[in-house]
Amino acid sequence: KSFADLGVLESLCEACVALGYAAPTAIQSESIPLALSGKDIIGLAETGSGKTAAFALPILQALLNNPQPMFGLVMAPTRELAYQISQQFEALGSLINVKCAVLVGGMDMVPQAIALGKRPHIIVATPGRLLDHLENTKGFSLRALKCLVMDEADRLLDLDFGPILEKILKTLPFTRQTLLFSATMNSKLDNLTRAALRSPVRVNI
Ligand code: AMP
Repeated sequence: KSFADLGVLESLCEACVALGYAAPTAIQSESIPLALSGKDIIGLAETGSGKTAAFALPILQALLNNPQPMFGLVMAPTRELAYQISQQFEALGSLINVKCAVLVGGMDMVPQAIALGKRPHIIVATPGRLLDHLENTKGFSLRALKCLVMDEADRLLDLDFGPILEKILKTLPFTRQTLLFSATMNSKLDNLTRAALRSPVRVNI
């Protein structure tokens, strides 16, 4: 099967070709049609499986159908991963001019606040710095968010981001799509999925 067979729009398929993605990976084949249909997903997948594009492509496609700032939020456990995710969004979205902002610790708040002022479509963030902006950056809110991704959710919880995630989730609209990716499942993760996802479909590759 090709990306087009999964329901991916032509401008996004072209970006996949340009990046050398000849065919979808297993996690992409399973997740993309479900995500495009609006389902919440729990994806069990390792780094290297192509999970970033598995959530980035459906989010970009939903954004095309309903363009608005602050459309998608991706939470990642580390700064490095946040930058990698943002780069993939920009590469896959290069033909549709998607604007991303990265909010991570260890960098000045002000340039990040300026980036938020430019009303990006996608925000990729580590939880602590995201909460800092939600509490301190004037005019920034995620009340219009359509899609939330929690990537490497097991690591998010191992790093004790649980209480921060809870605070962030309280600021998000109830009506949204939520995608959670993790290499492992455990009881703490079960609690998070119950709190954050609605009738999720499990994808296990
Ligand atoms: P990830 O698991 O998201 O970290 O992706 C691992 C690597 O696989 C990244 O360098 C991606 O650019 C690449 N990749 C993602 N999807 C595909 C695909 N369908 N075909 C070939 N490479 C891919």
